[in-house]
Amino acid sequence: MDSSELQPESRLVVGGRPSAVGSPLNTPIEVASTFISDGDSPYARGEGTATVRSYEAVVGALEDAEAVAYASGMAAVAAVFSLVPPAGSVVIPDDCYQGVAAIAAEGAEAGRWSVRRLATDDTGSWVSAAAGADLIWFETPSNPLLVVGDLHALAAAERRPGSVLAVDNTFATPLNQRPLDLGADIAMQSSTKLLGGHSDLLGGVTTTRSDDLAARLRHHAMLHGATPGALEAYLATRGMRTLALRLAQGQRSAAVLAERLQAHPAVTIVRYPGLVDHPGHERAAAQLDGFGTMLSFDLVDGETAAKTCQGIRLIRHATSLGSVESTMERRAQIPGQEHLPPGLIRLSVGIEHVEDLWADLSQALT
Ligand SMILES: *Cc1c(COP(=O)(O)O)cnc(C)c1O
Repeated sequence: MDSSELQPESRLVVGGRPSAVGSPLNTPIEVASTFISDGDSPYARGEGTATVRSYEAVVGALEDAEAVAYASGMAAVAAVFSLVPPAGSVVIPDDCYQGVAAIAAEGAEAGRWSVRRLATDDTGSWVSAAAGADLIWFETPSNPLLVVGDLHALAAAERRPGSVLAVDNTFATPLNQRPLDLGADIAMQSSTKLLGGHSDLLGGVTTTRSDDLAARLRHHAMLHGATPGALEAYLATRGMRTLALRLAQGQRSAAVLAERLQAHPAVTIVRYPGLVDHPGHERAAAQLDGFGTMLSFDLVDGETAAKTCQGIRLIRHATSLGSVESTMERRAQIPGQEHLPPGLIRLSVGIEHVEDLWADLSQALT
């Protein structure tokens, strides 16, 4: 059925399914590198497999856009950065995914482009930088400081023809935030995180409503061999069917945990856009349909934070985020993240019962 009449929750369920009588309800895991030719020589690195196309169809239907799938979130990031013309200019946030910062910095060192980094919430600087940049890369809420940037103002800003505004929407997902509706050219997500949602795959995806950008991104993925495998595409599709439920449960619990952590004597600061005293709360309330499953909080120093991460029993001490199981880690230990407060712990809230999560956190904090 035509999913454009459906709510996002339903689109997640019906998208990318076979419809012919006798087909299985789910697109099978099609493991193939090549296909019998009719003169057009389809090859899985270019055309993908039925499983990859089905996964792209779900994401595309969710955002009324063309989705291109990649083998990881970073492959998606690299595809977007490949759009920058020689000696072009790139603007990225000061607080963003460390891989994005590394790609930007390495390209600048190689003389490929110039990079400016701006504070996520410095809206005036973003709006004026947008006028002269070739790639404006935005991320809100930011990772891991949960700073909320003004996506509305940036999307409405004056830009030069041919420039690209791309938004890393991994934390929010299209259920909480739709950058393309506001005027961004490309939305990007690591499907390793909330889309997949089960810590069992690596994947990335871009969405765009521009045929030209979609063709260029797809060409890059094909030429650079960034096409995902069939199993990953299947798992991502399977995961997305329940995204709405997982997100709803996770963000309900995140709100409760944020408030309780804020009241805990061992915690010096909690960053969660849903807290009324969060500096970006009003903007988040206007811009997002939900405050998300991610929060960060600080303990007095790095040693205490490391001990707390060792002391948890239910929550997993692991990197990454957006899964059914809650995970947490101290972020200043990550290469490229040394600027963060040493006692900062990033918590990704999963779908366990909130009282079990709180019991675990409180025992580890004491
Ligand atoms: C994880 C992540 C990425 C990179 O995705 P991978 O799938 O790990 O390559 C990019 N941006 C954000 C916000 C992320 O959390």
